Amino acid sequence: MKITRVETIYLRQEQVREQCDSGQDALIVRVETDAGITGLGEVDSNPMAAKGAIDGPFSHTTACGLAQVVIGEDPFETEKIWYKMYRANIYGGRRGVGIHAMSGIDMALWDIKGKALGLPVWKLLGGGFQQRIRCYASSLFGPTPRKTAELARRFRDQGFTAVKFGWDPMGRDAKTDVALVREARRGLGEQADLLIDAGLAWDAATAIHRARAFAEYDIFWLEEPLRPDDYEGYRRLSEATDVRIAAGEEESNRLSFLELMDKGKIDVVQVDLTRCGGFTEAMKIASLAWDRGLVVANHGFTTYINVAAALHWLASVPNALICEFVTEENTSLREFVTRRKFRARDGYLDVPCEPGLGVDLDEEAVRRFRVA
Ligand SMILES: [Mg+2]
Repeated sequence: MKITRVETIYLRQEQVREQCDSGQDALIVRVETDAGITGLGEVDSNPMAAKGAIDGPFSHTTACGLAQVVIGEDPFETEKIWYKMYRANIYGGRRGVGIHAMSGIDMALWDIKGKALGLPVWKLLGGGFQQRIRCYASSLFGPTPRKTAELARRFRDQGFTAVKFGWDPMGRDAKTDVALVREARRGLGEQADLLIDAGLAWDAATAIHRARAFAEYDIFWLEEPLRPDDYEGYRRLSEATDVRIAAGEEESNRLSFLELMDKGKIDVVQVDLTRCGGFTEAMKIASLAWDRGLVVANHGFTTYINVAAALHWLASVPNALICEFVTEENTSLREFVTRRKFRARDGYLDVPCEPGLGVDLDEEAVRRFRVA
């Protein structure tokens, strides 16, 4: 089998608001083969930059559009193709957008392999640790502490046993920060797990103060309190608190995750399959975490392609903690892009068993949302 075409599909909601929500647009990658099998992948990044990294022309032996690097290759050779892409775009691709773009292609290749063999991706990855995975309802904070309590109550009533709130207005001042967590806990009740995503809000000293203040409300983890390059701050914070510190969604490729683990001493390694370098790299990141006694979780705020990928990966590693699942009720792109919609039951998501990723594009939605 040979790869014959790589297509990037940029989808965008009619209305994109200036808020912390990467689900308002999507860059989908479709890889075609001479066997008639196509694979799907996704990139959650700066969409046009990632599109350029894939569609772009040859410029230099260290700066080449990824599509032409992979055309003609056998999609089963995912490890070889990963390094070929990495080498061919090493100027722009060692971290960040270049690796994000590779993620979409790598994901699509695993989808092709699964479809060709009639097996779900988790089987190909050697998985099978779990058939269903505990998930948390993932949401932005309400505009006020009181609204956040209402949201928490609603998620609990939907059957979730874990709920995360994140980003704005966290970070305004100490009083608001603590009130947000207190009200989230009040709305959620004592039984469910409460996860807090600070959204890069503080410096290390403030984060230590907040982690101590939040401990009273028994939080499950504190996510991304610091800017991602502040490894020394992460180390100081981790050593100063018993609260689990989670981070990783800004990282791309295993070397950058290693810095967070070894220098930053974080507790939960969060991997976004659409950014980290795809399945090929995510499996290595999980191994590096396991070697250090650390647990992993996915990050995903975009389409059900990302959710499906996360479930296949989490089902294939020994140290999966929990799955992020966005549950905000809105008319977002997510509900249209794929024919399959994932729904949590009693706080769990079923791992797909269909060949490949187990998700297909809704062509009607592609026509509706595609940016020419
Ligand atoms: Mg986050």
